[in-house]
Amino acid sequence: MDSYANLHYLDNAATTRVHPTVADVVCETLRGNWGNPSSLYRRGLAAEQAVLDARAVLAGALGCTTGEVVFTACGTEASNIAIWGAARARAAWGRHLVASAYEHPAVLEPLKMLARQEGFTLTLVAPAADGTVPIDELAAAVRSDTVLATAMHVNNESGAVVEPAAFAAAVKAKNPRTFVHVDGVQGFCKLPVKLAETKVDSYATSGHKLHAPKGVGALYLKKGTNLLPPLLGGGQERGLRPGTENTAYIAGYAQAVQLMQAAPGAFCAGQAAALRRRLQGGLAALGGCTVHSPANGLPHILLFSLPRGLKSQVVLNFLDDEYGVCVSSGSACSGGMPSHTLSAMGVAPALIDSALRVSFCAESTEADVDVLLDGLREAVRRFRA
Ligand code: PLP
Repeated sequence: MDSYANLHYLDNAATTRVHPTVADVVCETLRGNWGNPSSLYRRGLAAEQAVLDARAVLAGALGCTTGEVVFTACGTEASNIAIWGAARARAAWGRHLVASAYEHPAVLEPLKMLARQEGFTLTLVAPAADGTVPIDELAAAVRSDTVLATAMHVNNESGAVVEPAAFAAAVKAKNPRTFVHVDGVQGFCKLPVKLAETKVDSYATSGHKLHAPKGVGALYLKKGTNLLPPLLGGGQERGLRPGTENTAYIAGYAQAVQLMQAAPGAFCAGQAAALRRRLQGGLAALGGCTVHSPANGLPHILLFSLPRGLKSQVVLNFLDDEYGVCVSSGSACSGGMPSHTLSAMGVAPALIDSALRVSFCAESTEADVDVLLDGLREAVRRFRA
C-alpha cells in the first residue's frame, strides 16, 4: 500500500502504525518462542516467561501488581469481561447500571444487552454542551442497587477526560459496593495512572492505539474482585480470558508500552498541544469551523465541524485521494454513522454531518497539519461553490 513517507496519517484514535521495533518483537516471538505457555517443558516455560515479562511491563504502566493484569484479545473484550462479569456477579443485590451517554460501543452495547435481556435498568448521564461529563452527575445517578458505574477515561471522538481516581472515589462515596469500570483505551499511556492506589475496580486497554498490533489488549482487575467469567475454558488469565495466550502479540504490546513510556508526558503536554494549537489556528483562519473538543481535553484529539454546507464524508475522501491525509468523520467504529458523541452532546445534525476528527501520535508533525489545512482550504473552495 502507500508508503508511510507520503502519508499524513492523522487518525491515531482509530488505530496506530505498528512500531517497527514492536513488529520485530512480534516476529521474533512467533519464530523463536512459539511454545504453549502452559506446557511444562523448556519450550513452554520460555513462552510463559515472555508472558510474565510482558505482564510486569503492563503492571508497571498501570500502577498495579502483576496479578491484577489480565491479557485479552482487544479493548472491546476487556470491557465486555468486566461489564458482564461484574453485573452478573452482583445481580442478586441490584440491577442498576450507570454510564456516560457517550461511551464507546464496547461498553454501551453490553450494558444495553444487560438491560434488554437480563432485567437491568440503565441510567445514561448526558455530557454537558462543552463535551465533558461531570463526575458529580455520574455519582449522583448511583443508587443503593447500582451494581456497576462506568465512564471512559478519554473520549475517543472528542478527547474529553474523566479522571479515573476521582470518578471511582465519587461513586464509592455514594455506594461502596458499586463496581467501577473505566474504559481506558484512549487514555492509557497518554495520561498517567496508578490504579492500585485508586478505587477503580477495572480498567480496559488496547494495544493497537499504542503502536502494537490489533488483536491484543489488557484489563486491570483489582485484587480480590469477584467477576463471573463470560468465557469458560482452560483457566488462563485468572479464568477470565481462557484460551492459549497470544504470546507474540502480548510481547509486542509490552514493547509498545515501553516505547510509549519513554516520552508520554512530553508528547501529551508539549508536542500534541502544539500541533492542536497550529490546527486550531488554521481552522480559525479558514473561518466557519466549530470546535467540539473541550478546551481541557486530551490534546491529541480534535473534533470539529467544517464550514456549513460541507459534508465530512466528501471532504474525508477528497483529503485522502488528493492530499494523502487520513482523518475520520468521528469514531472509526461507528462505520460512517453520525457521531454518537456529538448526538449525546446535543449538537445540531447539520454540524454532525460536517464533523471531522483529527488525532495525533508522537510521529505526527507540523507538516502533517499544514498539508491537512491546505486540503481543507481547497475543499472549501471546491465544494462550497
Ligand atoms: N474503547 C474506546 C474508547 C475505543 O476508542 C476503542 C477503539 O476504537 C475501543 C474501546 C475498542 O478497542 P478495540 O478495537 O481494541 O476492541
